Amino acid sequence: MIDNTLYEKVFELSDRLWDNPEIHLQEKLASKLLSDFLEEEGFRIERGIYGFPTAFRAEYGVGEPTIGYLGEFDALPRLSQESKCSIKKPINNEGPGHGCGHNLLGTACILAAILSKRKLEKENLKGKIVFYGCPAEEGISAKAWMVKAGAFRDLDIALTWHPGNANMVMPCWALASVQKQYIFTGKSSHAAQAPGDGRNALNAVELMNIGTQFYREELPKNAMFHYAVTDGGGEAVNVVQDHAECVYQVRGDTIQDVNLVVDRIDKIAKAAAVMTETECEIRFIKGCSNLLENSRLNELLYDVYSKLGVLEVDDEDISFAKEIRQTFTDHEKKMDMLYLQECFTGGKELSEKLRDSPIIDSLYPRNIKKHGKTASSDTGDVSQIVPLAHIQAACFAQGTKLHSWQLVAQGKCNLAHKAIAKVGEVLSVAGLELIKSPLIVQEIKNEFNQRREESEYLASIPEDEEFPYSVDKNI
Ligand SMILES: [Zn+2]
Repeated sequence: MIDNTLYEKVFELSDRLWDNPEIHLQEKLASKLLSDFLEEEGFRIERGIYGFPTAFRAEYGVGEPTIGYLGEFDALPRLSQESKCSIKKPINNEGPGHGCGHNLLGTACILAAILSKRKLEKENLKGKIVFYGCPAEEGISAKAWMVKAGAFRDLDIALTWHPGNANMVMPCWALASVQKQYIFTGKSSHAAQAPGDGRNALNAVELMNIGTQFYREELPKNAMFHYAVTDGGGEAVNVVQDHAECVYQVRGDTIQDVNLVVDRIDKIAKAAAVMTETECEIRFIKGCSNLLENSRLNELLYDVYSKLGVLEVDDEDISFAKEIRQTFTDHEKKMDMLYLQECFTGGKELSEKLRDSPIIDSLYPRNIKKHGKTASSDTGDVSQIVPLAHIQAACFAQGTKLHSWQLVAQGKCNLAHKAIAKVGEVLSVAGLELIKSPLIVQEIKNEFNQRREESEYLASIPEDEEFPYSVDKNI
């Protein structure tokens, strides 16, 4: 029997997170609300784990296997937006907002953990359910640091999801990535009176960026980089700038590919420092591994998802989705369909059918034609040490981009709540199936071990790298 009160409480929890968005490393309220909720449900809780005051681990059950649900709950800076409003309208101009739907992400996995726990209890089954409260996905990729500190190794299998516009078992979508900061220090001087006495740090940044543009033609296949000048040396044009900084993000198929590129960019930065007689300090900011796919686990999730069916869309959902879609360009409106066509076998036919639907109301096909790797995620690091899979449920209008005001505006709608319910059910049924089927668990582990044998695991964060962020221990 469905416990409607549980579902209502989880929706309320998600809405409270949306109402009180907290950015990375400041998720004090979210961490407390979610961990307290699981504690009341009878989970054993450890808070402030692996160096993160807002990380927590909740456990229920005894014996094997251990099924993990990974939940995030951090928001993004400067994405404040009125709920259920189809024009850009911040509640608080500079304030944060749930632009990646992590209010839904964390709470749906909480629902999955509770539904699984109740079933375990009712059927008197052996096995453990673990919920990892994972902070600071945005900006810091905290799971990679948690992996480095020893987290997730207690799990046999990890399940999670990401809010989005489609219903699917997510293919291998995440690229490896590393971010580094390049800090140049020169010597200031009057730009007209004594230019030769100065050493220009901004020139070093510019020469570095020119050097990297020429390097682009030699990049390994699928590798790319982006950069931002984060300090241009100040506003005065009549001084030789003695400080300037830039940040580079490198992405590639594997962390090995990324490291090759990073190594060349480091050399270009050092060469720019030599050319300008400035000093260059290089700081590691963050890293994410690529996602290691497990097709047996994806197959199980697909079977469960197709058996349970996708969430039901009603007129109210459609009418608001139509309003939101009016704010998209023609290209944005087509983005989900282009991905469907390009990456899934049978995607072309389905995309014809769904092309003008304000909300995607079908399950994407099981078979992958091509991996459309576009972003990076710290779940990649978890997938390198434990078999992991993601699903997605349609929480937003077709064409909604991550990290946009339109996504924030849809984060408390009925459609988003229905997605929480659907994901909670799919992930809990899959988790229970794993607990009851040692054979499937073994098949998943065999595939994982085989992939590990084919390619050696290399952590995205170098062994000797210290955690570079200050964490408020009082949180
Ligand atoms: Zn996200």
